[in-house]
Amino acid sequence: MAELVQQYLDQIRDEHAGVTDGAVASYIPELANVDPMGFGLSLSSSDGFVYESGDAATEFTIQSISKPFTYALALDQAGHDAVDAKIGVEPSGEAFNEISVDDTTKTPKNPMINAGAIAAVSLVPGATPDDRFGCIHEFYSACAGRRLDIDHAVYASEKATGSRNRAIAYMLQSFGVLGDEPDDVLDVYFRQCSIKVTSTDLARMAATLARGGINPATGRRVTDAKVVQRALSVMVTCGMYDAAGDWVSAVGLPAKSGVGGGIIAVLPGQLGIGVYSPLLDAKGNSVRGVRVCRSLSEKLGLHFLTVTRESCSAIRARYDVCDGVRVYELHGDLLFAGAEQVLRTIERDRDDYRIAILEVSRVDDINDAAREMLAGMRTVLNTAGKEGFLVDPDNKVVRPASEQDYDAVLFSTLDDAAEAARRRLDRHG
Ligand code: GLU
Repeated sequence: MAELVQQYLDQIRDEHAGVTDGAVASYIPELANVDPMGFGLSLSSSDGFVYESGDAATEFTIQSISKPFTYALALDQAGHDAVDAKIGVEPSGEAFNEISVDDTTKTPKNPMINAGAIAAVSLVPGATPDDRFGCIHEFYSACAGRRLDIDHAVYASEKATGSRNRAIAYMLQSFGVLGDEPDDVLDVYFRQCSIKVTSTDLARMAATLARGGINPATGRRVTDAKVVQRALSVMVTCGMYDAAGDWVSAVGLPAKSGVGGGIIAVLPGQLGIGVYSPLLDAKGNSVRGVRVCRSLSEKLGLHFLTVTRESCSAIRARYDVCDGVRVYELHGDLLFAGAEQVLRTIERDRDDYRIAILEVSRVDDINDAAREMLAGMRTVLNTAGKEGFLVDPDNKVVRPASEQDYDAVLFSTLDDAAEAARRRLDRHG
């Protein structure tokens, strides 16, 4: 069956292989020494299965795709408040290397432009530049699931020519944004940009974000879901240089591109994509990379704002086991919207039953909001002179610690609950 997906990828890659528009980046001289026709595409499923097409094993420098990862690491290590005090989350609409800060806060507008990325490096803990880089290197490697190397020639080339970034770092220092020497921070930034990845590494790193911080291939948690949520948010709003709006409309995947020719794109909860093609458009995005992502999104229906179905079809069945006892069987993932609909339905039917039995054993996943709402249902029913029973053998709604609060209304099977409901009705006439 895997051949079907493979064919899709090969076909999409073939469609764009003839495109030769754009130019390789040359402002870092060493970046110009790449094969302009290199073209790799990789896709990782959320359980870590990787499909590859074309030059998926070719290494290139990660460049700005490093930014969301260092930002995530800074959030993870320094905490959200410390990071928010130094880096904003507003799209700037400016070029990636703009020498700018926010007019009011005097901090970088977001972590996806160089100013914000350099500030993020300085927030990663480390007594020396080597320590700090070690932490970053380890984090990227954990996301990719293998030890990544550095392209020393690209590092030296950027370090020798990086006046623009030097200007940015010194400006940040003057505004009190950098907690360290600008040149030390820059050295780490140049090193992080020179880490070598393949499109498959990018797909795996993307899948790690798609899984909320767990690398699906290694099973290792590299950061927590809140950090990933923030990193993906800035990828949506500021990930594609100053073409972010276009990208969200046409492709609709949190993404980040780099001048090395890579693009990483994430479909939360589902998959990660990595593309490599070093010919860049005027904004600095890989020409074929953007086209491939556009096609993938269209053909495979990956836009993250696609409304495919109502997300609240949580009630699977609704029936009476006897006069006065109605059963509601729930299934699927139960989040706020689904729980709201369940409660509203139970409320609307109130005149039709004396006891409502909520059967949740087929619910796959439930979040805290939904759990609280379902747990609160009984109080609401009691106030209306009704009773609510719960069939929850796996403690999805009722946590084991609070089981005693549900004494007499919590059951392991629907039969037990129905029997108890009948007895209770008999007793109370
Ligand atoms: N190292 C590059 C720079 O700071 C990264 C640029 C990019 O990929 O956008 O100029």
